[in-house]
Formats: sequence, structure tokens, C-alpha cells
Amino acid sequence: SDHELIYPAKPEDMKWSMLYGGSNEAPTVADVGCGFGGLLVSLSPALPKERILGIEIRVQVTQYVLDRIHALRKQNQGKEVDYTNIACLRGNAMKFLPNFFGKGQLKKVFFCFPDPHFKLRKHKARIISPTLLSEYAYCLRPGGIVYTITDVKDLHDWMRSHLEAHPLFERLSSEEEESDECVKIMTTATEEGKKVARNGGSKYIACFRRTENPK
Ligand code: SAM
Repeated sequence: SDHELIYPAKPEDMKWSMLYGGSNEAPTVADVGCGFGGLLVSLSPALPKERILGIEIRVQVTQYVLDRIHALRKQNQGKEVDYTNIACLRGNAMKFLPNFFGKGQLKKVFFCFPDPHFKLRKHKARIISPTLLSEYAYCLRPGGIVYTITDVKDLHDWMRSHLEAHPLFERLSSEEEESDECVKIMTTATEEGKKVARNGGSKYIACFRRTENPK
């Protein structure tokens, strides 16, 4: 449960160098519910100048991702892509995001195949809700992008409609979505996305820009 989770009291207390090595530069890209880390691994060479952080609530899955990154770093030491810009930590993204990320810190946030929580009484457990969207908007800088993808149409409609209704988000045009390199990557790189493809399922995508703060 939550009291076993370790999290800083405020973002400035976070020792990012412990996760990435080198400087204490904070991550600018977050993968919420990163699962087994496929997106992190594929984003690493695509966003070489950014530090990318996966947040995962399951202990064993987090450990798997840490081991995976450790092995990749070992194999690729000294190479152009050395995987030192990706990391993973165990955390509940629905509760502690503002502990890790300061105002306007993030450029991109990914929600890839989040748990659907089908039952009506479980909708409050969904990772996108009006309250949580305000937290995500706080952590994102104006111009930053929220990426969502799911194979569950009902969840897609839920995420899309809540993002559309929020004053600090605007949907990307379909041209922008189609030409975005990160959309291409998130469509194919995650473990869940691969499973959906194997089973011939659909993938619903919606991306939103964090708008300027109102004057
Ligand atoms: N994004 C990955 C992918 O596409 O392969 C994983 C998708 S999986 C269906 C959803 C993941 O979100 C699970 O690994 C789950 O443990 C994680 N998760 C659920 N609620 C979470 C929360 N509140 N904070 C962080 N991770 C969470």
C-alpha cells in the first residue's frame, strides 16, 4: 500500500542522479504506468536530449524495468545510445505526481493502454479524471503534450472527452497526430500495444497540447 512507497516531499528533494547517473537534471518526459518498459527503451534514442521517466505501481514490474535498463546500459556503454536517459521508479502516479514534478517541468506525458476499470463504480480509479488532469496540466509546460492510446473504445471516449472539457488542453489536429514521431513509437513499442496487434485489436489515439495559462 501507499505508505510503503518512497517519494520526495517536494520535487527539489529528488536525487535524479541516483536514477540516471551524472547530473541531477530532472526528467522532462513521463510514461505513466510504464509496464515492462517498451516505450522507455524505444523513446531513449528518439529523444536523446530528454530524461525520460517511467512510473509503475507494481513492485516486480518496476524491478523488471530497472534490470532491463541496467542490462542495456551495460551492453551499450560508450555508444551513442547508452540508455542513461531512461529510468523507472515505483510510484502511484494518481497520488504523488506533484511530489516528483514541479510546475511546468514536463514536455510530454504518455498514457499507454491504461487499465480500463470497466465497471461504473470503478471509473474514479481511472488514471484520467478532471482532478488528475489539473495535476497533469500543472506539471506540463504550455505547449507540452499528453499522449493517450488504448484498445478500449469506451476508455478512449472517456479520456478524450475529459481532456476536451478541460480548459488547459486542446486536441492536436489529425495531421499533427499522424506526423508526430512519438505517436508512431507509442503505437508499436509498448508490450500491451504488441499484444493488441497480435490479437488484431484496434488502437485509439488522442493527443492534447497543454495550452498557455490564462492571463
Ligand atoms: N503502458 C504499458 C504498455 O502499454 O505496455 C503498460 C500497460 S498496463 C495495461 C497498465 C500499467 O499501469 C500496469 O503495469 C499497472 O501496474 C500500471 N498502473 C496502474 N495504476 C497505476 C498508478 N496509479 N500509478 C502507476 N502505475 C499504474
